[in-house]
Amino acid sequence: MQLHHWVNTLGQDLKSRYGETVRKLTIHGNFTCPNRDGTLGRGGCTFCNVASFADETIAVQSIAEQLAIKAEQLKAKSTKYLAYFQAYTSTYGEVLELDRLYREAMAYRNIVGLCVGTRPDCVSDAVLALLAGYRAQGFEIWLELGLQTSNDKTLKRINRGHGWAEYETVCLKARALGIKVCTHLIVGLPGESLLDYQQTIDRVVTLGVDGLKLHPLHIVTGSTMAKAYAAGKLAALTLEEYVAAAVMMIQRTPAHVVFHRVSATARKPTLIAPDWCEERWKGIIAVAQGLAESGPQGSQTNSGYLYPSNFR
Ligand code: SF4
Repeated sequence: MQLHHWVNTLGQDLKSRYGETVRKLTIHGNFTCPNRDGTLGRGGCTFCNVASFADETIAVQSIAEQLAIKAEQLKAKSTKYLAYFQAYTSTYGEVLELDRLYREAMAYRNIVGLCVGTRPDCVSDAVLALLAGYRAQGFEIWLELGLQTSNDKTLKRINRGHGWAEYETVCLKARALGIKVCTHLIVGLPGESLLDYQQTIDRVVTLGVDGLKLHPLHIVTGSTMAKAYAAGKLAALTLEEYVAAAVMMIQRTPAHVVFHRVSATARKPTLIAPDWCEERWKGIIAVAQGLAESGPQGSQTNSGYLYPSNFR
């Protein structure tokens, strides 16, 4: 079951534009998070344990060393890469220091661009100008914004520390400068249902977006949600629930939007639940199957379905 038959995937998008496979190398800029250090909040988002998505062991290395290690670790080699600053809030720092780190990454051999993961309320105009400057030099620049949901009540409940308004502002500013925006969304947040997911995807695509990452809620050790789960106050998302939501969201997304991810995994013992999220391909295959049976990306948009040129 090939996902790219039904979804405009980042892998296929990059391949069609660069003529070869381009891989992402995940690196750690030694950033922290303003929702943890007291600047914007304390305790962080209730689902968060950074260890579940960041490789802390590599943070002691320089950016160039990290890129070399990550490139070496790839089973399928490539000659072109995107450097992905993933851990914590990768725009949270002095602009000069950010510029130094980002430039170190772009100076590494065969780097064609940057992906910078951050919060919507932590992207200043100076940072946007920096990223727009790299784009003007010919680098591919993706600003990866953690929105998770467009529902302000849920954002408050999970202690995000920002609302839809901050996302709306920075998304419009970034795209006006030609910076590509990839928005991260979580399915399964407490109190949310298919209606919330539908409202979120409709608001995001109506505002305008270049890429999306869909993620099932992981309940991980060290998070506030882990306590709620242990106390029986939070249920784990089933694979069937996830697939129903993800398929609907993908079908409501216009075909030109690039999916960076349609599911996500985590490893035990950090992952507490759901168990199916431990298997790398399970969620992806199930989503592809659901799309194959009921219609591909864009099949439920108002404009109808249009195959992008790189669909196979
Ligand atoms: S999810 Fe991101 S913004 Fe939220 S606490 Fe964790 S690192 Fe900070």
